[in-house]
Amino acid sequence: MIMRSLKTKLIILIIGLVVTAHFATGAFIMNQVEEAMHHENHRRGMAVTLDLAHTSARSLISYDLAELRSYISFSMQQEHVAQAMIIDQKCRVIMHNDLNEIGSIYEKNCQDNRAVYSDHYSLETGLQVIDIHVPIEVAGVQLGSAVISYSHAGVQHELYDLKKNILFILLIGTCVASICAVLVGEYITRPLIHLCNVARNMGSYRFDTKKMENEYSDEIGELTRTFYEMAGKLEKEVCHDNLTGLFNRNIFQIRLTEECAQSLRYKHPLAVMMVDIDHFKQVNDNYGHPAGDKVLQDIALIMASQLRGEDCLARYGGEEFVILLPQSSKRGALHVAEKVRKKVEKHCFQIDDNNTLSLTVSIGVAIFPEDTSDLKWLLALADQALYAAKREGRNLVRQVPMDRSSATSSQQK
Ligand code: GH3
Ligand code: MG
Ligand code: MG
Repeated sequence: MIMRSLKTKLIILIIGLVVTAHFATGAFIMNQVEEAMHHENHRRGMAVTLDLAHTSARSLISYDLAELRSYISFSMQQEHVAQAMIIDQKCRVIMHNDLNEIGSIYEKNCQDNRAVYSDHYSLETGLQVIDIHVPIEVAGVQLGSAVISYSHAGVQHELYDLKKNILFILLIGTCVASICAVLVGEYITRPLIHLCNVARNMGSYRFDTKKMENEYSDEIGELTRTFYEMAGKLEKEVCHDNLTGLFNRNIFQIRLTEECAQSLRYKHPLAVMMVDIDHFKQVNDNYGHPAGDKVLQDIALIMASQLRGEDCLARYGGEEFVILLPQSSKRGALHVAEKVRKKVEKHCFQIDDNNTLSLTVSIGVAIFPEDTSDLKWLLALADQALYAAKREGRNLVRQVPMDRSSATSSQQK
């Protein structure tokens, strides 16, 4: 749950960063482009106005209104020119594209002897317009001015298209970034989620130390490798018996509970065997503890060799072992127990270079749920069967309920 929210956090963070970076870059580019386009528009408007001022100078000296009108008409044919006029030094309009304006007073910047422009919004069109004012001078004397209102409509349309395109690119970029964010989030959190599950299972003694398929070469890979190394060591410590390497009592109890549940669920019998080495104390007494340890290890190997992969063999304590045989009937379990007993009986235990030894084991068998459906009783019953085997002479297999016939048959073998 924690890791899942970490993944969500990562995805949100990456998408947030990318979208912010995208929009900041987009806004910056738009701003730069807008400025450049306005600048260019001013330059174009100024060129048209300068042209009108130059061409009109001579006509203004001779006050040739027809010529001035033709220049005005020519200027009006230029793209984005909204209004063109020639005014005299007293700000009176001498010629205008709208003839009704002739004689009116144009006051804006009219006394200015420099080329100036002022931006404003046209109330009629709602578009941005620049009024460009260029003085008409002849031999250093200002005769009047050429004034042109140059519309920003073109620029505004181009900017609108550009904004649409940039927004579209940003949306595509955001979609791509979102997909990448999900992939990166998945890449980073997948091994962590895996480790989290493994750690959670370890809490209930389930050591799933199966490695992930693809190894990471970064810090996460390092963490995974260290974690598995640690889990492997911990598993040995927590689940296995130091001497024989078999499962310990803890793990056996967990497996027993699990297997009983499976047995009830799928209606398969489950066999439990308790195995005790006969007169083991004498081995220690006669040959010493290290020899006894070696015998315990050998017997563990012999028993393991007679079992299936799904069976569970554990050291219950001292020289006692327990075996779980899932999906095993009483008959099958007795057969396996006999195999184990005979194998030990026939084995020649090498104590040292000069001494060998023969040993036997006694085995008690109980079946779940046939003999009891009470999990706590199951082991007690197998133990009782084991002690029946001891009582009746050792090197025997006994089952629940205890009967004499099997004792005799075992002894005969
Ligand atoms: P029985 O046939 O009645 O089972 O007799 P036994 O001698 O096998 O049983 P008993 O309970 O009298 O003795 C068990 C011995 O197992 C005593 C103990 O010292 C020995 N033992 C228990 N754990 C270990 C171990 O890890 N190593 C060695 N070497 N001996 C152990
Ligand atoms: Mg014992
Ligand atoms: Mg014993």
